[in-house]
Amino acid sequence: MSSNDNKPPFLVFAAPDIQEPEIAEVEACLRSGWLGTGPRVARFEADFAAYKNVGANLVAGVNSCTAAMHVSMVAANLEPGSEVITTPLTFCATVNSILHADLVPVLADVDASSQNIDPDAIEAAITPRTRAILPVHFAGRPCDMDRIMAIARKHDLMVIEDCAHAIETEYRGRKAGTFGDFGCFSFYVTKNVVTGEGGMIVGRDASLIARARMLALHGMSKDAWHRFSDKGYKHYQVVECGFKYNMMDLQAAIGLHQLARVENNWLRRRELWEMYEQALADLPIGLPAIAEADTRHAHHLYTVMVDPALCGVDRDSFLDRMNAQGVGTGVHYQSVAEHPYYRERLGWDPDRWPNARKIGQQTVSLPISSKLSDSDLERVTKAAAHSLAG
Ligand SMILES: *Cc1c(COP(=O)(O)O)cnc(C)c1O
Repeated sequence: MSSNDNKPPFLVFAAPDIQEPEIAEVEACLRSGWLGTGPRVARFEADFAAYKNVGANLVAGVNSCTAAMHVSMVAANLEPGSEVITTPLTFCATVNSILHADLVPVLADVDASSQNIDPDAIEAAITPRTRAILPVHFAGRPCDMDRIMAIARKHDLMVIEDCAHAIETEYRGRKAGTFGDFGCFSFYVTKNVVTGEGGMIVGRDASLIARARMLALHGMSKDAWHRFSDKGYKHYQVVECGFKYNMMDLQAAIGLHQLARVENNWLRRRELWEMYEQALADLPIGLPAIAEADTRHAHHLYTVMVDPALCGVDRDSFLDRMNAQGVGTGVHYQSVAEHPYYRERLGWDPDRWPNARKIGQQTVSLPISSKLSDSDLERVTKAAAHSLAG
């Protein structure tokens, strides 16, 4: 035996919380012989609609949040070259989906404290070509939807909410994803509800959702998945050039049981969040701003700021030290304006969005999976203290 055997196992960042009910459901799905889009997707959509308090005709399951955002913007029929205002503090998929829809992403900086898109910056970024706003509820903290919706009404803009972090998020008693024309959710392995890969669109207008659903399945006329069922063969018609974005029953089999536990998992993450607040209070790192009144934070990410002037260590060395102590961390996010593709194609200079740039240089996400035990969390906070001490 090597001395390494005494070390506790590496603590994986954002480990999915998979349990027996979804394992059994996946097996049942396999044994049923129906793996593709079918009855389990329909059930998962109905359950998600119920969770969001919207009609079942206002949701559409797809195979990722990226697909959800892309197909929503295509369904919205915005003329090519229109500008869509979004945040620089997001995953590249947000910006890619805008480009895939033949639209032009325009960045508006985040608020330094909430780390969400700043409504004043949105207003300053509006041009005669602006057609939509794509806010991201960062880390699960709701954006200022009163102001964003007021700006959208004033300038006649569509709103597409990136809710990849925000399944449980609420703003003034209303659920994230139900403010805009479209709300787009992710069930990727690190998210709060997991299907492996998967996504959901929530909408306000049944005809737009129907179009998004059709576009997500090759542009085939409705209910094409019924064509191989026992109701007899049905001809389908292609009415648009769509995409291959449909969700499978195999994915929904996982999601059904994940969604059933979404509130329990949220309660556990809230507990972990409060434990972090206490355990880290005396360290020189910056902690997340407290949740605004009359909102519900999804507690998807617990992000701290490592300012080298206060901590005596830079962020990347802090990440290395955490890793050396067996603790996985994440970075959400380097400003999207840093990436070479966007700099070249769109001429972005990250200094134009200084709050996002600074956050991107200092932020660290600590593990906050509902799978984390109290002693796991203690390992993380001890490792953090040790990483700062040098
Ligand atoms: C994960 C994520 C996405 C992409 O979700 P997928 O389901 O992987 O396509 C988009 N936006 C944000 C903010 C995310 O965190």
